[in-house]
Order: sequence, then structure tokens, then C-alpha cells
Amino acid sequence: MRFSFSRLASSCKARLHQTLRDRTRPEIAFVLWPAPLSSPSPSTPFASRPPLPSAIPGSISVVKGIHRKVSNEFIQELKDILQDNMTLDYEERCFHGKLLNSYHRAVNVPDVIVFPRSQDDVQKFVIECNKYTVPIVPYGGATSIEGQTLAPHGGVCIDMSLMKKIKSLNVDDLDIVVERGIGWIELNEYLKPYGLFFPLDPVFRYGTMRENVINLQAVLANGEVVKTGSRARKSAAEYDLAHLLIGSEGTLVLRKFSYCMIQGQPDFDLVLALNAFWDTEAYAQEQMLIVQKIVSEHNGSDFVYVEDAEAKEELWKIRKRALWACYAMAPNNYEAITTDVCVPLSRLAECISKSKQELDASPLLCMVIAHAGDGNFHTVIIFDPDQEEQCQEAERLNHFMIHTALSMEGTCTGEHGVATGKMKYLEKELGTGALRTMKRIKSVLDPNDIMNPGKLIPPHICI
Ligand SMILES: Cc1cc2nc3c(=O)[nH]c(=O)nc-3n(C[C@H](O)[C@H](O)[C@H](O)COP(=O)(O)OP(=O)(O)OC[C@H]3O[C@@H](n4cnc5c(N)ncnc54)[C@H](O)[C@@H]3O)c2cc1C
Repeated sequence: MRFSFSRLASSCKARLHQTLRDRTRPEIAFVLWPAPLSSPSPSTPFASRPPLPSAIPGSISVVKGIHRKVSNEFIQELKDILQDNMTLDYEERCFHGKLLNSYHRAVNVPDVIVFPRSQDDVQKFVIECNKYTVPIVPYGGATSIEGQTLAPHGGVCIDMSLMKKIKSLNVDDLDIVVERGIGWIELNEYLKPYGLFFPLDPVFRYGTMRENVINLQAVLANGEVVKTGSRARKSAAEYDLAHLLIGSEGTLVLRKFSYCMIQGQPDFDLVLALNAFWDTEAYAQEQMLIVQKIVSEHNGSDFVYVEDAEAKEELWKIRKRALWACYAMAPNNYEAITTDVCVPLSRLAECISKSKQELDASPLLCMVIAHAGDGNFHTVIIFDPDQEEQCQEAERLNHFMIHTALSMEGTCTGEHGVATGKMKYLEKELGTGALRTMKRIKSVLDPNDIMNPGKLIPPHICI
């Protein structure tokens, strides 16, 4: 059967929307605090939002890039490798070149989209791009929000969505080896009958993706395949390559497989509207009462806790859909900046309350969505992209929170990453020494700068 791109395009879009819903990961605790609203707030569901505007005026800038036309020879060689699993369709290129949940835009879109089906395709594809020095933009679920999957320099977007194989499930060792295209929810559906799950939620208990991926297999920019280690949980045999590569935002390698830790379903968990997981019922009840007392002492409202499986599912859904709930409070064309600063735990309350004060004083619609367990919290700042003063105010609030977090020895991003959106804060957070080291690593692994160029490392950093 011939492969149909229009079918693939619509299934990709459906998959992406599904992924967006699936990958909205719940965290430990959440509180939604709307600040005063000066703008009108008709309630419009996310599904009916029109396509995002192609450019945002004013202070919220469009990511610049230098576009070099890809040659016909290159396209022909890609076709020889990928046959029908690629497209030059303009609509598809625009779809992959925009972000669905973020205001960041790029001046260019990718020139080609490829959908590899095999490990072999991936490797040959990278060799080809390196030969012609064509930028590669890796594309997974496309839920990142700081510009990670934009293609400011054009090039090829490699959509991994057809690579979802489970290579091995090792129940006795509690690990699983999966291709990069599999989604978190899909993986958990697969694991459910075994009484197992791939965690991340809640992060304070299980750790982030970095802690849950033991090792990985990846293709370097020159086409060489590397494995960062074994399935053993611990190893003192190497540099910690896995953790260097996870979270490198596609700037160092193209990941093929991940060796992930999995867990048994907890014996008992209790979900609070301030959410948490505990091992025993008695401990859970005790903690819940303590939290309830604290909430009421501080004039908290709507404290909810549930034990029933269905009710827990419902409560998680509220958290998962928080971003769309925020969008629904504003007119259709409004955009959101979703912040994710993270500070040492002892400074969290102070950081949230300083941020909240600033947000409350702002004319913009702002919400705080907190994770109480790991020092990370989100705010959603809603603004009208067509009004310059609103763009500036949204940017100002974002700057304020980031600088507040940095002054508390925190980070500009606990989860969402850097890409193009947070690049400007890295020098202050990390210093030039760390950035130069990152640049050195990048230039050794990717001397032609083809791996997701223009992301993560500020362009002015020299080796
Ligand atoms: C509503 C909402 C809620 C969110 N909640 C959370 C949250 O709770 N916690 C959290 O951590 N994040 C959260 N995020 C951010 C985002 O979902 C995560 O960063 C997520 O890990 C991105 O995964 P993805 O598969 O969608 O990757 P993508 O967006 O497709 O890509 C992310 C980065 O990985 C690179 N990449 C993709 N595939 C490969 C590959 N095969 N090899 C190398 N690089 C590759 C891309 O180039 C890009 O730089 C949220 C986002 C939204 C919109």
C-alpha cells in the first residue's frame, strides 16, 4: 500500500493534539490563583481557538535565522533513503514549523519533513544531512514550549512519531527499552496489564526524565551510533553521557532508543487538589490532615481530597488541563507565557509570594500553578499579542520571576528547557565558563552545527 501524506498529516495532527493532552504531566501539588482581570474574559474552549497568528509584534520577538536553500541533489538522496516517508508539502512544513502551545515563532519553517520508520533510516538520514550540512530539527511529541522544535534556519524536521517500538520489557529488572517516538501515556497503557508504570508523576518522588532514563542509544552528527551504557542501574565505568544527552534539546545527538526505569503501581495513593502520593493509608491520612490544616490557616479555599480511582482520575484531569482552562478565560487570539522557575525548597514560598504580588498588581490575567514538592512552580500569563503594551507587560513579568529565582540561587527553567526562549538568561545563571564548556562539547560532537542549530547555547559564546 502506498503511503499517503495527507493521511499521515491528519493522523500526525490528531496525534499531536492527543499528545498535548497526554503529555500535560500532572505534578505534586497545584493551586490555581487567578489574578485580577482587566481584559474581557469570554469563555472559549481551546478546541475552538483559531490558528495562531504568524508573527507577534513588539517586544516578544520572532526567532531569526539564516536560511540556505537545500539542493535538489540532497532531496533526491533523502528520497532514496526514505522513499515516501518524507514530504515537501508547504502546509505540513508550516505545521511542523510552529508551536501549538507557545508564542515563540521563527522566521523560517523546515524545508522538508521526514518520518523515519527504522533505525537504519535514522542513521542514513543523519549521514546525509551532515554531508550537505543541512540543519536537523528533531521532533517528538512537539509539546515543548520554549521554541525547541522551531526551524529558524530551515533544514529538515525529523518527526519520530512512526518509531514507537518496544524493544524489550524486562519485568524482573523493572526496565523497558523503547524507541523515541512512543508517548508517555501510550507507554503507560502498554505497562498497565503488568501492574507497572513509567513514572515522572509525581516528580518529587520519582524524579524527572533524566533520573528515569538509565541509558540511551543515539546517532551522532557524523552518523556514528553510540550507546551510553548498559541496562545496569548504576555504573562507574564512563562519563555520564546519558545525562548529558537527555535534555540536550536535540543539539547534540539524535536519540533512537531509551532504556527506562519502570515501577510497580503504588499500593496506596491519595490525590488532593493539593496532590500527593504516599505508601500507606495511615500516613496519607495524617499528611492530608496536616495539609488541610495549613490550607485553612492560610485562608485557602476549595481543599479537595479523593481516594476513589475515578475521582482521582478526574482530579488529575483538572491539573492536566490547567493550561487550556487558562486559555479559556481569555479571548481566542490571546497567547500565554508559561513560566517554570525553580528555586531551592527553602525559598519556594518567598519566590511564589513575590511573584504573586507582582502578578496580582499586573493588569494581565495571570495564574499560579504550583508544584510544592520540588521547588518548581508554574505561572501562566495571558496576553493579547496584538497589543504592544500587553506583550511588554507579559515579558516584564516573565523577567521579574526569572530574576527573582536567579537571585535565590534558582534556575530560569525547572522543566521546560531553554531552546530560544530562555537563552538570554543562561549567562547570568550559569556564567560564561559553563556555557563555553557546553559550546566545546557541542563543537566536538557536532562540528558542522547541524543538530538543532540556534538553540540552547547563546550565539555570542565562543570556545
Ligand atoms: C500543557 C503543557 C504542560 C507541560 N507540563 C510539563 C511538565 O509537567 N513537566 C515537564 O517536564 N514538561 C512539561 N511540559 C513541557 C514539555 O511537554 C516537555 O518538555 C516534554 O518533555 C517535551 O516532550 P516532547 O516529546 O513533546 O518533545 P518535543 O517538543 O518534540 O521535543 C523536545 C526537544 O527534544 C528534541 N527531540 C525530540 N526528539 C528527539 C530525538 N529523537 N533525539 C534528540 N532530540 C530529540 C527536540 O528537538 C526538542 O529540542 C509541558 C508542556 C505543555 C504544553
